[in-house]
Parts: sequence; structure tokens; C-alpha cells
Amino acid sequence: MDLITSPVELRAWVAEMRSTRRTIALVPTMGALHEGHLSLIDVARDLADVVVVSAFVNPLQFEDKSDFDRYPLTIEADETMCRERRVDVLYRPDPEAMYPRGFSTSIHIERLSEILEGASRPGHFDGVATVVAKLLVSAEPDVAVFGSKDFQQVALVRRMVTDLGFSVRIVSAPTVREHDGLAMSSRNVRLSDSGRIAARSIPRGLEAALAEFSSGRTDPAVLEATVRSRLVSNSLVSVDYVHVVDPVTLAPVVSAEPGHVVLVAAIVDGVRLIDNAELGTTLFQFR
Ligand code: AMP
Repeated sequence: MDLITSPVELRAWVAEMRSTRRTIALVPTMGALHEGHLSLIDVARDLADVVVVSAFVNPLQFEDKSDFDRYPLTIEADETMCRERRVDVLYRPDPEAMYPRGFSTSIHIERLSEILEGASRPGHFDGVATVVAKLLVSAEPDVAVFGSKDFQQVALVRRMVTDLGFSVRIVSAPTVREHDGLAMSSRNVRLSDSGRIAARSIPRGLEAALAEFSSGRTDPAVLEATVRSRLVSNSLVSVDYVHVVDPVTLAPVVSAEPGHVVLVAAIVDGVRLIDNAELGTTLFQFR
């Protein structure tokens, strides 16, 4: 596995791959890798000849500096996991190489960046879109793999790729969960013991909404209320939003249908967690 830290070096490596007609898959991450990230790497491996994993804690997407400062760093473990997963390049760009002095460009995706997560975290998605665009320019992948756990992020990346004409295929992979259903996240390590237990109410709430939908309920307000009632039954949980949305526009729906998605954000004992479930599917994929 090659370790690369500058966009210039990465482009040289990409040029070499291109000269031998090898296809490239990119898996963008912020490091602190867990099974969820590894599942994306496995998907990437199936879709291209070589796999680039980027691990970069992107300062632009943290509206709260203390959140950035506390973001977990597990540099050696990340490297080991990538080697074990036969990743070809682990790309950890230096922040100064990523954002040279005077950096002033930002990508803003209207509406999609402003709703849901964007409403609670102003500027967050501008940072995400800008860093993803930079990664796509440097890695020139044929395919880029994202987790559907960050549902709004994938919707936004798809919009940007279409709008700016990047010739990359965007693939989203299913959410990997802990045994009790909690979606894996690098932020879960910040949960207290009681917060960790309380966090189960998120997948439980989603599961209850899926069950109601499969028994014939299509009123989004009813499905949303079901999720909320599971969440607020625990005093450590405060709900930011629960919405049933269209998977492409993320606009609220009038009547729920298979393929619509229930999006949830909640603060559990001080930690912001997001999750979602597609109506007409089941949540738990026990492996
Ligand atoms: P992050 O490092 O949290 O920015 O995530 C990097 C990528 O991994 C994003 O595309 C996430 O959606 C994806 N990801 C994070 N958690 C999971 C999970 N539990 N299952 C699948 N993919 C995930």
C-alpha cells in the first residue's frame, strides 16, 4: 500500500494507473475507520481495479471548532486496517497542501445544503462539497463510494457531480450497524455508557416506523410521530428532526411510499447522531 500526502503525488500515481488502463475507486473518509468504512472499501474493491482511501479530517466542514479538535484520530489503526483490506493508496493530505494559503473557494449547493443537517450545521455541506470536489479532481476516480448513513451527503454529492459534470459514478452502500442496531459512527466513542444505551432508541424508532409502514400506514406525520415517541421516551435524547422525504430532492412527502426515506437527527447525551431508513426495507442486516 502506498501512503500519499500531497495532491501532486496522488495525481502522479493516478496518471500511472491510467497509463496502464486500470480503473480507480475512491472512498472518502475522515479516518477513525470502523467496519462501516471497511464495507465501503469492499464495495470499492468490487467496482474497480485499484482502491484509494482518503482519510482527512476536513476543517471546512466543522462549524464548531471544538468538535473538530475532539474528532478522533487513529492513524496507525487506520493504516493497519487499510493494509489488511488490500487498499492500494491511503491518501492523507497535509492540510496546507489541501488548503494552500489564501484558499477562498467554496462550493454551495442551493437548498440541499440548507435543509435538515444544513439547517442545524450552517456551512457544513459547503465544506463537504468543497473537499469532495477537490478529492475528485485529485483522484480522478471512475467510481466513488459513500455510505447511505449520511443520506443527505450522498444526495448532495450526486447533485454536485451532475451539476459540475464530473465523470464519476457515485455509489452508496448500506449502513453497517452494531449488534443492537446503532449505526456505526466514529462519534459513537464519545457516548457515555448511559448515552450509548439511550442511542438504541434511534434504530428502535426507525424500526417501529418501518413496521407501521409495512402494516399500511402512509401518513408521514404518523410515521414521524412514531420515531419521535421512541426517542423522547429517554431523557438523554433530544430530537433535532424526523422527516419522511423523497430520496433525491429530500423534500417532505405527502404520502409515504416504498423508496421514501425516514431521516433522523438527535443529540444523545451531547453527541449528535444521524440515521435513516428506507421505507419498504428492513433495518437490521445481521451478518
Ligand atoms: P466519515 O469518516 O464519518 O466522514 O465517513 C466516511 C464515509 O463512511 C461516508 O461516506 C459515510 O457515509 C460512511 N460511513 C460512516 N459510517 C458508516 C456506516 N455505519 N456504515 C456504512 N458507511 C458508513
